[in-house]
Amino acid sequence: MEKYGIKRKKRYDSLDWFRLVAAALVVAIHTSPLTDFSEDADFFLARVLARIAVPFFFMVTGQFVAAGQLDTGKRRVFQYVKKIAALYGISVLLYLPVGIYAGHYQEVSAADVFRMLVFDGTFYHLWYFPACMAGVLLVYGMGKCLKEKQMLILAAVLYGIGLFGDSYYGLAQQVPVAAGFYEACFSVFSYTRNGIFMAPLFLLLGAQAGKSKLKDTRILWAGLCISFVAMSEEAFLLRYFELQRHDSMYALLPVVMFFLYKILLEMGCGIQKDISTVRKEPGRKRMLSYAVTVSTWIYVLHPAVIVVVRGAAKVLKLEVLTDHSMVHYIVVLLLSAAVSFLFAVILKHCRRGRIGSQRTGSRADGFRQARDRRQDKALGESGMVQEPAAGTGYRCGRAWLELDRSALYHNVVALRERLPDSCRLMPAVKADAYGHSAVLVAKILQDAGVDAFCVACAKEGVQLRKKGIQGMILVLGYTHPQQFALLEKYCLTQTVVDHAYAIQLDAYGRTLHVHIGIDTGMHRLGVRSDRLEQVADIYEMEHLAVDGLYTHLCVSDSMTADGRSYTDAQAQAFYRLVAQLEQRGYPCPCIHMQASYGVLNYPELAGDYARVGIALYGVLSTSEDTAGWQNLLQPVLSMKARVATVKMLYRGESAGYGIRFTAKQDMKIATLTVGYADGLPRTLSEGVGSVLIHGYRAPVIGRVCMDQTTVDVSGIPHVQAGDEAVLIGRCGELEISVCDLAAQAGTITNEILSRMGARLERVVV
Ligand SMILES: *Cc1c(COP(=O)(O)O)cnc(C)c1O
Repeated sequence: MEKYGIKRKKRYDSLDWFRLVAAALVVAIHTSPLTDFSEDADFFLARVLARIAVPFFFMVTGQFVAAGQLDTGKRRVFQYVKKIAALYGISVLLYLPVGIYAGHYQEVSAADVFRMLVFDGTFYHLWYFPACMAGVLLVYGMGKCLKEKQMLILAAVLYGIGLFGDSYYGLAQQVPVAAGFYEACFSVFSYTRNGIFMAPLFLLLGAQAGKSKLKDTRILWAGLCISFVAMSEEAFLLRYFELQRHDSMYALLPVVMFFLYKILLEMGCGIQKDISTVRKEPGRKRMLSYAVTVSTWIYVLHPAVIVVVRGAAKVLKLEVLTDHSMVHYIVVLLLSAAVSFLFAVILKHCRRGRIGSQRTGSRADGFRQARDRRQDKALGESGMVQEPAAGTGYRCGRAWLELDRSALYHNVVALRERLPDSCRLMPAVKADAYGHSAVLVAKILQDAGVDAFCVACAKEGVQLRKKGIQGMILVLGYTHPQQFALLEKYCLTQTVVDHAYAIQLDAYGRTLHVHIGIDTGMHRLGVRSDRLEQVADIYEMEHLAVDGLYTHLCVSDSMTADGRSYTDAQAQAFYRLVAQLEQRGYPCPCIHMQASYGVLNYPELAGDYARVGIALYGVLSTSEDTAGWQNLLQPVLSMKARVATVKMLYRGESAGYGIRFTAKQDMKIATLTVGYADGLPRTLSEGVGSVLIHGYRAPVIGRVCMDQTTVDVSGIPHVQAGDEAVLIGRCGELEISVCDLAAQAGTITNEILSRMGARLERVVV
């Protein structure tokens, strides 16, 4: 799979570079660089060789928009058409003044406007955009009713018809019926070189190019040379017999393009042998994305540059700029390239926004910029060509968790804003980040500028380190002495759970970094806060580097008078110990005591860190608490599965293990691909729980099984196998929150989340 991905990536390279060549050829078409040397030479360059440029662009479009499946990629197709439409819109506006200046739009009727906008383009090169859109939609429509072969044949027939309205027009003219047909055509559009006759064949060839098995480069080169020589012959013959009405389409052009495109694909495959070198070359990637943007803008802008150069030559009396065809070409090309490059740079910067204050900004700023940079990265890679949507494969899985990246960001910012600037987040990513996936979550947080994490055990810390998570990782729980080596090797910070444990840690004999846990009333882990001597003794241990001191509040979720006073007492005990230590000359490099509820209910008790867990994931332990803070937090996780089958359950029939459910009337039931092994609590059975399908609620019937669950879909229209079922999250107007699940199961959200099954795929959306 990865190999496949790499191959694809490589293929883009040579295609992207060749766009620049193609753009230069298009400029040649419009400037005829060799006319001063020889008419024949110019005909060869501008009317034969350069004619590969536009088909090339069509083929790239075909390959990437369709990825060989113009019949199924509906969203892609429409996205692409929208994109081209936007580019076309901008170009039309851009050329409005140029066209007026050039007198193109004098005395145009409504029909002319239609013809220009839909077929010919409002300036001579802009026909490409409507042609591209029409071609893509046409091929998409063809894919709805035809097989691949049939599509190719139809496209070839259309191309043939176009051919006789283009280079072979002289022949068509001699047949009265054909002459009449083309007469009628040309009253609607000026050329057959358009989205109906020309684009479909090349789009399909592009879509098919990746599939053809022909890979031997010697054969490909031979094919290219032979077909190109033959096409040149064809072109010169047509010119000799004066058959050409226009010279965009040759009978052999599709053959030439097939070989050329295959060679480019094969070359791309050979450029990088090893993905690691690709990764190490971000600069090259950036250049590539520039190649895409620059070539597009050269295409759009060069006619305007031609006008400007001509004007400038006249005004400045620099006739050399226009008098010599080659000089003219070079000047236009360089100027177009320069302006396009400038355009590309400006576009990039607009997308990127300000990055100057990156280092000096506040943490929230830094985080926002990190997010912007990431979004920019996503944008930057989509030039005119969109890469196939990656990561959609999980939707083919049986059940999965979707993590909402922007919700996680939102929660980070919301929690930071409740804390003073001196207090940083140390997110709790224990228990696989409360079931969300520690690696995915920690990576997102790291990108957002978080540089401290806490986990439950050494193993969890090691996993994060192996995935490249940096900064402090605090192990909150007990680590067996056999694993002290892991602490050292992976640079994990260990909690000192009591004085005896400190002795064991010290006995390891090599420096270990620790935070001393202080028990201020939870009586779980930690040295009692009234044992000043013990804490001081730990400071004195030779091999322990005491980096911090922390306690854990056990009723910070409560705002009752009793709760408040208990929390207050815990905080006072902690602060007192810290003060006593400092008096004794044992400074505390950092202190922390807050978890999620502390940050929300007692923001004034901040320390150097806040160990936020559950709130970061956008929910709190109970429905009531979550409802109370729903304006501040956004849930990160959704859980989804699929309908495996839909069937009838007739009145009186029972279903499921233990036949606990019996139908009171005929009903339609659906079995879902999710069960208690995925983390769905078994207590949801017996009509307690429900899921969402198509925006409706479907109650669970019978018992939740290990891998499957049956629901009642009687009232829901059109449910069928493969449909999506939402177990946690939104679906239409309805939402099932993880808190609802927890309430139904008689537990807290933390438990439901942390028990999410290991086999669920986690994806960031
Ligand atoms: C789990 C844990 C946290 C995080 O708690 P939340 O209530 O989920 O924010 C913080 N500190 C300690 C010691 C923990 O065990």
